[in-house]
Amino acid sequence: MDPSEALAKLLEGNRRYLEGRLRPILHANPENKPYAAVLGCCDSRVPPELLFDAAPGDLLVLRTPAHIAEPTIVGALEHAVQADGVPLIAVLGHTGCRLLGAAVELHLKGLTEAQGPNVHAVLRLLQPSVLQAFGSHAIDPRKVPKLHLEATLRTLRKSFTLARALQSGRLQIVPLMCEVATGRVDPAWESLGAIAA
Ligand SMILES: [Zn+2]
Repeated sequence: MDPSEALAKLLEGNRRYLEGRLRPILHANPENKPYAAVLGCCDSRVPPELLFDAAPGDLLVLRTPAHIAEPTIVGALEHAVQADGVPLIAVLGHTGCRLLGAAVELHLKGLTEAQGPNVHAVLRLLQPSVLQAFGSHAIDPRKVPKLHLEATLRTLRKSFTLARALQSGRLQIVPLMCEVATGRVDPAWESLGAIAA
């Protein structure tokens, strides 16, 4: 499957989800041959297998806080591309991300005791995207999800393995945004309107 076919298949799965035409779950796929990898947020409202009506074996799914791509995550994606020949990596952002909202709060109000060191460690990793939003001309926290999606894409493109696959045309890396109110996933995510942090 080529990258554009894989993207079309993902979006067709999302159409079935939106129309309530989910396929019966089949566990008959004999191969671990995912047609796409999805790096998404761990938010409970954005489960990729459901949103894309995927069967076991269809998707390699990685979920982290606000789709942060730390080295182990990048390594897993590199392995998927090298060993499994995955033609598409979709980075799935979503509206109303509470972690990005908390990262904005941290920037505006500082650390609260309730957040503790582990939550702080997550929010610290999101600060570059927040700072970018607040450092630009018009301060607008609604820009944060878009900027953070772009930051994750930049991180992935820095990988030598992924960059080589991109150059050869074997791989595409695409941003997607899910509107949590409806479950609609849109590659032209700017059309979703207000993307509240
Ligand atoms: Zn989120």
